[in-house]
Amino acid sequence: MRLRLLVVEDDRDLNRQIVTALEGAGYAVDRAYDGEEGHFLGDTEPYDAVVLDIGLPKKDGVAVLEEWRKAGRNMPVLILTARDRWSDKVQGFDAGADDYVAKPFHMEEVLARLRALVRRAAGHATSDLVCGPIRLDTKASRVVVDGAAVKLTSHEYRLLAYMMHHTGRVISRTELVEHLYDQDFDRDSNTIEVFVGRLRKKLGVDMIQTVRGLGYLMTAPEGAAAPLR
Ligand code: CA
Repeated sequence: MRLRLLVVEDDRDLNRQIVTALEGAGYAVDRAYDGEEGHFLGDTEPYDAVVLDIGLPKKDGVAVLEEWRKAGRNMPVLILTARDRWSDKVQGFDAGADDYVAKPFHMEEVLARLRALVRRAAGHATSDLVCGPIRLDTKASRVVVDGAAVKLTSHEYRLLAYMMHHTGRVISRTELVEHLYDQDFDRDSNTIEVFVGRLRKKLGVDMIQTVRGLGYLMTAPEGAAAPLR
């Protein structure tokens, strides 16, 4: 199977060099030239690994990475940092980066580090989150209920992914709004109710309880769930 990678780098020459090297190494590669485009692709397409520049127009690499991680996107990410910007590295790791390469770099180093990341990720037992009959494949962004695929919008998917990362505890509407929306989005927590309603309908199984005045709680039906207190 051909592995699929994403390269997000605004320097067009460098982007082309990386893409050419990766394609030469046998990967299928998508490219993006700014943070918004990169974020969108990483949020909607399944990648085996991502090469992400930190200094990007429209949305910087750290913000892009933070949003992916909050949404449950856990593909390995190799960040590209400027040599003299050690703070980029710290921020990048805090945001969920798996490794970094400082510019200027040798392409061989990028290839070697990516190989290691992909191998490590493949070694993980599973990238699935499971709650009762619901299975969420965080790598492919797919949701299956009782073996049948359920088609969700990206907001619905992110909402479900967040709740499935936090089963067994009550999540407030405010917390969901903060994790689901960009800052410029209309932060109306009533919209969360609408999304939860749609999600319940699409999932067909009511695993999401409304806890009056507090928020929502997702628990697995059989013993596996965290005890309610
Ligand atoms: Ca850059």
